[in-house]
Amino acid sequence: MTCADFEKILPDVVEGVRSIDQESHLKSCPSCLDLVADLELIFREARQLEGLYEPSPSFVRLSKLRRWCLRFGGLGGPRG
Ligand SMILES: [Zn+2]
Repeated sequence: MTCADFEKILPDVVEGVRSIDQESHLKSCPSCLDLVADLELIFREARQLEGLYEPSPSFVRLSKLRRWCLRFGGLGGPRG
């Protein structure tokens, strides 16, 4: 698995769905591990901020999340 492969399945990884291949890539690739940690943080904050749109450091993170949404599609939509 390459970093490009990994990026394609990032939305699943962030939601906790990981295959053995993905886990082993994470263990060998600090940059992807960092990316996942960052996205997990963004996801948590985005959920906490649901409905709130105040300018704040978290708002900057939400903007980042939006870019990920646009890139991957289907990420961050309402669930449950
Ligand atoms: Zn990687």
